[in-house]
Amino acid sequence: MKKVEEWKFERERMVQEQIIARGVKDERVLEAMREVPRHLFVEKTYYHQVYNDYPLPVGHGQTISQPYMVAVMTELLELKGDENVLEIGTGSGYQTAVLALLCSKVYTMERIAELTKDARSRLEKLGFRNISFMVGDGSIGWPDYAPYKGIIVTAGAPDIPNALIEQLDENGRLVIPVGHEHCQVLNVVKKHKGRIYRKEIFECTFVPLLGKQGWKH
Ligand code: SAH
Repeated sequence: MKKVEEWKFERERMVQEQIIARGVKDERVLEAMREVPRHLFVEKTYYHQVYNDYPLPVGHGQTISQPYMVAVMTELLELKGDENVLEIGTGSGYQTAVLALLCSKVYTMERIAELTKDARSRLEKLGFRNISFMVGDGSIGWPDYAPYKGIIVTAGAPDIPNALIEQLDENGRLVIPVGHEHCQVLNVVKKHKGRIYRKEIFECTFVPLLGKQGWKH
């Protein structure tokens, strides 16, 4: 078992070599990536690889995203600290933890109940108190707490779900991979004075967003 300082050292290396080196600049995001103990979000068998530059399995055919992808998507939300954020695709809860350090409240949705259960218990053990969990179809969002200043989707969608655009606040940002089932483009959608602005960032690959306004199989 590695000591806390050794894990910290591995995280610093991850931040320097994978995240800063590729251009992520938001200091708050870098600090959150240094802080969250990513190894606690995977099975022990993956501990030795968890700070490497790729996603890893988390069970049920799903993955914990590559560290760089988590950092970029979070930076694109431009969080200052007082926002409410909706996350679709809780998975391991790793991205949820990074968000929870950077905004005031995270609402996170996952369709696989076992993943929610494990993520909730990890995040509670780590002391997070500003996260609400829901098992359900995130492609139609979570209207009860809308509008959200930030919405992040960590699964690939065929199109931008209308429900999520509707639940986005004025001056809010929605970050979402959109495209084919095995290859998408990361999109940022902004709402300003009721109008929608959309920007494409780069190509990426996520597991599919399944559901009413996602892929149907
Ligand atoms: N952010 C997660 C990534 C998980 S992978 C992490 O870093 O661990 C994407 C997740 O989206 C999977 O767990 C998958 O089950 C979930 N998902 C797919 N479609 C969904 C939907 N319609 N609603 C909620 N979650 C969904």
